[in-house]
Amino acid sequence: MARIAVIGSGFFGLYLAEYLTLKGHTVSVFEKEAESMSHASYHNQARVHNGYHYPRSVLTAFRSRVSFPRFVAEFPEAVYRAFDQYYLVGRKLSKVTAHQFASFCQRIGAPLERAPENFQRLVDEHYIEESFKVHEYAFDATILRDLMLKRLAQLPTKIAYNTEIIRVRGGGAKHRDHALALLTSDQAALSPDMVDGFDHVFNCTYSRLNYLLAQSQLELIPLKHEFTELCLVTVPEPLRHIGITVMCGPFFSVMPFPAVRHAGQPLHSFSHVRYTPHYEWYERDHCPVDPYAVLAQDPKHTAWPYIRRDAARYLPLLDQTQYHSSLWEIKTVLPRSESDDSRPILFRTNVGLKGLHCVMGGKIDNVYDVLAAVERELQL
Ligand SMILES: Cc1cc2nc3c(=O)[nH]c(=O)nc-3n(C[C@H](O)[C@H](O)[C@H](O)COP(=O)(O)OP(=O)(O)OC[C@H]3O[C@@H](n4cnc5c(N)ncnc54)[C@H](O)[C@@H]3O)c2cc1C
Repeated sequence: MARIAVIGSGFFGLYLAEYLTLKGHTVSVFEKEAESMSHASYHNQARVHNGYHYPRSVLTAFRSRVSFPRFVAEFPEAVYRAFDQYYLVGRKLSKVTAHQFASFCQRIGAPLERAPENFQRLVDEHYIEESFKVHEYAFDATILRDLMLKRLAQLPTKIAYNTEIIRVRGGGAKHRDHALALLTSDQAALSPDMVDGFDHVFNCTYSRLNYLLAQSQLELIPLKHEFTELCLVTVPEPLRHIGITVMCGPFFSVMPFPAVRHAGQPLHSFSHVRYTPHYEWYERDHCPVDPYAVLAQDPKHTAWPYIRRDAARYLPLLDQTQYHSSLWEIKTVLPRSESDDSRPILFRTNVGLKGLHCVMGGKIDNVYDVLAAVERELQL
């Protein structure tokens, strides 16, 4: 059995740690923050993807169709279903037509029906070609985190909070070839045997994947980062139990965000393809900055007025939406996702050091693909 370190306790780190512990390995998780799932696993749109979002990447759509029922069955308490989800097809600037979208849904076997009249009446048909009711949910990241921590509490997995891993290095333990050692932010707080002698180390730090590789003086993985803003809002009453996504171009999504409630009801998250990413940068051969430093230092001027103005052209009622606050996060994607909006996993083994593996999922339910890759490529 192996000694394994997992760096990062976002959803991917927690899920992988549980999986590896259940396989009989000795697993330690190291988390920079005081709690789990406080970065991308919380600051996201909370959509449990069921394929509809990816008409330009049939593979991602198919994978979502497979993962959706599995995620919903595994975490029913975290899945929020008390709303109707609508996908609308834009008339101008859209990369798909309503006919193409309907054919695509048929191809991936995703149920679709024309939106009812009472919904159609809310939509400006100069801008929207067609509105469809679909089968998709949201997840509550806080409940998801608590479920994962409860499951891990039954296991011998150790989680060290407030522990940033600064560097991974080879040639760690005295008596073992290839063992890996970790340098932590507060070396004194952990005994040497807690941070040394690992057979495998999984880098599950998402936007900081390369930052850790750079600090470990290892080659980087090409990644693209976006500094993103998700607005949390109260929608007008007729839209309270509704989610809306306009496909497929410079449009918007608004859907319940179950982890934050106001007067007993979830707020909605509001994103816009043009305004949610405030700016972006690439890491190719060097890692110019720590993404979390960018997050901390940005003055965070909201783009809400632009988002509201644009979205209200499609559904005039959205003009009455009340802004509450914003979630800010660094979104990290593979550069190739730019062209087709796909969300594959990144899984690289032995990245510069034998036993150091990098894991990144473009969406929450990709975690199942990560486990399949671990099983296939590492046989752990
Ligand atoms: C704006 C936005 C919208 C999104 N919308 C959706 C959506 O609707 N549906 C969906 O399924 N997915 C969505 N995603 C993607 C989803 O959020 C990610 O795929 C997922 O959260 C990644 O989880 P993770 O565990 O890899 O990363 P994270 O949750 O970011 O976890 C990384 C962890 O590593 C820790 N860490 C970092 N560096 C170190 C270090 N050196 N030492 C120790 N710990 C460290 C961090 O503190 C953090 O806890 C969205 C993402 C964003 C940003």
